[in-house]
Amino acid sequence: MKELDFKKQFSGIIEDVIDYLETGFTDRLSKQYSGITLSKKDQITLIDNDVRRCTKCHLHLKRLNAVPGKGNLEGGIIFIGEGPGEMEDIKGEPFVGKAGQFLSGMLAAIQLKRDEVYITNVVKCRPPGNRTPLPEEINTCFPYLERQIALINPSIICCLGGVAVRTLLGSDTGISKLRGKIHHYKDIPLILTYHPAAVLRFPDRYKRDTWNDLKMLRDFYRDLKK
Ligand code: SF4
Repeated sequence: MKELDFKKQFSGIIEDVIDYLETGFTDRLSKQYSGITLSKKDQITLIDNDVRRCTKCHLHLKRLNAVPGKGNLEGGIIFIGEGPGEMEDIKGEPFVGKAGQFLSGMLAAIQLKRDEVYITNVVKCRPPGNRTPLPEEINTCFPYLERQIALINPSIICCLGGVAVRTLLGSDTGISKLRGKIHHYKDIPLILTYHPAAVLRFPDRYKRDTWNDLKMLRDFYRDLKK
């Protein structure tokens, strides 16, 4: 009898502790406050916290920081790269290394500031040595990106590089064949181009096409705002 009372008394607490350890209370909070509408900012904070605590794939073992994403939730554009590199891992922010500076320059060239757009990656923790994320890592991490896209509900998505393209379009076709037209991810228009790191590495091969893709993005975005 006493044992039953004990279990009854502490079962809620034990469930809370398990929820906290597994999800940072997100599941319990969303159940408890299901009738309350959280602001976008609060909701992105919940996603960010889930990412920072995530241990669902082995990429968490060597990360310094998980990198959820950063930027404007109302700007209407999401840029999606591959995964954090060394600087992103150190700072916990996306695209802050050389490729990030290059991305900022590319955005400036089409009259966009970084704080006008939201920037994230397919996987949120750095693959060791900046290797390409493995399919199982991508699949495990993808629900976070799905939540970010669902929350922000962008007018347009811009995929940077093959990993983002394969993940969102489910196509193994190369960027050179897919670029230059509007695709869709769940009815959201999607433009794709090369990853800034690839453009930095092989400017002669990728710079011109990337510039044309960005101009297409600029024109599409301008038309949306008319
Ligand atoms: S890469 Fe994604 S799934 Fe893997 S530990 Fe990091 S946040 Fe979790």
